[in-house]
Amino acid sequence: MSTLINNRSTLIFFFQFFIFLLFPQNVFSQENWRGNTTPTYIELINHLKEISRSNSDVELYSMGLSDYGLPIYVCIINGAKDSINTFKKAREETTILFNNAIHPGEPDGINACLIWLEEFLKNKKNIENLPVVAFIPAYNIGGILNRSSTSRANQNGPDEYGFRGNAQNLDLNRDFMKMDAVNSFTFAKIFHGLDPDVFVDNHVSNGADYQYILTYISSLRERLAPSLNTLIYDSLIPDLTDAIKENYQIDLFPYVDLKGMTPDEGIVAFNDLPRYAMGYTSLFHTLSFTVETHMLKPFPDRVEATLAFMGELINWTSLNKSLIENSRNQARRFVMESPYLKYNYINSYKKDSILFKGYEHSFPIHKITGLSRLKYDTNKPYTKYVSFYKTSIANDSVQLPKFYYISAQEKDVVERLLANNVKITKILRDTLMNVGVYRVVNFEPSKKPYEGHFKLRNIKVQSNKELIQLKKGDWMVNSNQDAALFIHSVLQPELEDAYLSWNFFDSYLQQKEYFSSYVFIDKIEEILNNDLKLKKEYELKKKENAAFAKSERDQLYFIYKRSAYFEKSYNRLPIYFQ
Ligand SMILES: [Zn+2]
Repeated sequence: MSTLINNRSTLIFFFQFFIFLLFPQNVFSQENWRGNTTPTYIELINHLKEISRSNSDVELYSMGLSDYGLPIYVCIINGAKDSINTFKKAREETTILFNNAIHPGEPDGINACLIWLEEFLKNKKNIENLPVVAFIPAYNIGGILNRSSTSRANQNGPDEYGFRGNAQNLDLNRDFMKMDAVNSFTFAKIFHGLDPDVFVDNHVSNGADYQYILTYISSLRERLAPSLNTLIYDSLIPDLTDAIKENYQIDLFPYVDLKGMTPDEGIVAFNDLPRYAMGYTSLFHTLSFTVETHMLKPFPDRVEATLAFMGELINWTSLNKSLIENSRNQARRFVMESPYLKYNYINSYKKDSILFKGYEHSFPIHKITGLSRLKYDTNKPYTKYVSFYKTSIANDSVQLPKFYYISAQEKDVVERLLANNVKITKILRDTLMNVGVYRVVNFEPSKKPYEGHFKLRNIKVQSNKELIQLKKGDWMVNSNQDAALFIHSVLQPELEDAYLSWNFFDSYLQQKEYFSSYVFIDKIEEILNNDLKLKKEYELKKKENAAFAKSERDQLYFIYKRSAYFEKSYNRLPIYFQ
């Protein structure tokens, strides 16, 4: 019996191998990309290697490692045929970059890029004035190799796909500022190597059910420089929406981030913080989108919609090259000339409305749980206006310094600035300088780990001038440069994704020296007599606070903290400004 099975298996294997030898192109053809399967990492890379070998318009570069250890590639179309000139051309001319499989359970972009590439090769003249088109075939290598059919419980295909976490179990779409993953350094190399004018991160959504196959996240409007705000919202999005409707009969709709449980309660604009791919690329004034196809639509339909978005965005880019370049230059100047930066954007909950194609829903009792459950009825589509909370307001703003100084020991900070093309200068000799210092007066660590960190929240700093001994080897950063927005976003301590919040400076938030009460108590008379202001504060506190009056330790610590014995570096960040 077992022999029979083995013989049959062997026969089937040889038959399949024979078919492969006869029709090798069928293994990696559009028929596959348009079906319910997505390639493995090996299939994908081998396929692209083969294409780049046989087509001079297609270049494939291994750009650096992932946490898994295998490389991350970038595929470039319409480059200059060799790596130095291709990257130079990309930076100098108009370039569009697509990122795929940052969440490998959401592989729609992989298939869409492969189909786009095949169609491009079949009919090279189909896009006039083509920009440099680049795509990262698969970004989360550890995730794409961790393949199954079950990790996306709510998703309608493909048959097999990768996992969200990378080799370190990090969500790479939260890692762009802290850069815990090697992948993030490789991404920075690709991104700054190309300096793309337009960027798309391809995803598949979770959330409510509705009629749209594809939704998109665009940058928070209020955070954009005026030139990009106008270009994206008054030109790009309306043009793209019309073109996709006309050429593909697909409705383009903003990402459905719910205010309540269902779209009936309203949709809110997504806050694309710089920890996310598109928030990060926006810091460099790249026109950025996240594409979210709908999980319940069949995989082939989602791939077609992703392809439609890709094709039309490339078309729009090809038609608007100088407008894009000019708007980006204006945005760079706008940030460099701005005296303030707004942050802590929250939704204004100012009511607006949008015509929405949804499905009726109800809450029938479920026979097993015995509880009412949410159920959308796809047989009852509707088109109606729902509340759309699309405006945000900044809760805070900060005056921007012209220079930052970073202590030499902060190697993790310096490494990330350099990876992001920030120009920094080494201080050549010890220098005593009157500079601004940040002293942390409040923070709360999160109770649970978030992406490898107990991220700090509700950070409050006080800044004032102090005489600081800068040492040889410390770094100076002039914020009047192209990366200005990135620089402020990581170094301004109260910003949402600042390095302080991501635990880069936790060691400065701990007191290192203390005192013995039985020794220190003999010093307080002298301290108070030499500092009459302190003496007055102390006496007042003792009078007004009964607990303080009864605690020797509290009284001594009060005096110690205000005396010359207390360490000056406590809660002071190793970043100064001018
Ligand atoms: Zn995703």
